[in-house]
Amino acid sequence: MVSGPSGVGKSTVVNALAERYPFYFSVSATTRRPRPGETEGIEYYFVDTDEFVRLRDGGELLEWAEYSGNFYGTPREPVLDRIAAGDDVLLDIEVMGAVQVKASFPDALMLFLTPPTIEALEERLRSRGDTPPEDIARRLVIARWQLEVAEERFDHIVVNDSVEDAVKRILRILKAPHTKADR
Ligand code: 5GP
Repeated sequence: MVSGPSGVGKSTVVNALAERYPFYFSVSATTRRPRPGETEGIEYYFVDTDEFVRLRDGGELLEWAEYSGNFYGTPREPVLDRIAAGDDVLLDIEVMGAVQVKASFPDALMLFLTPPTIEALEERLRSRGDTPPEDIARRLVIARWQLEVAEERFDHIVVNDSVEDAVKRILRILKAPHTKADR
């Protein structure tokens, strides 16, 4: 599982990692509106709140969380199918979702991608230009709290100073998942 604050560059790192390590990327359901360039079924399944509640209450989600005013959840079946087939599965989910998954899958590896500084994160969120200012402020507050949770509960904290270095660090962890050498 890869978690990290909004704007830390998770998608970029995950996409770069996908070229060097085979895994199934779990596509989440969300009530958030698509950002420009996002495609249904690739980044997310975009659903309305009624549909999300139906999935959640029908037991179709492995975990779910509310984040910055929207719901996000991991469809259960595809993940279980891939694990049963022996594949590695990657979840890009926020910290409490990751904690929930770890409770059911104790062998799951929890990686937290962190920015070099909070200022770098703020700058990235602003320059991305797709997040309203009040949402940026909210996401920065969440980011500080997430880092505290991650320091306590995650297996590894990986600094995303450059995509290449972050990917290398993750590849090293995947080869020796039970060491905490990178922390
Ligand atoms: P964004 O709106 O920027 O795409 O994602 C916001 C946050 O929701 C990110 O931290 C992302 O990792 C998290 N997220 C995405 N999908 C899921 C999910 O299925 N479950 C949980 N718990 N968090 C998710």
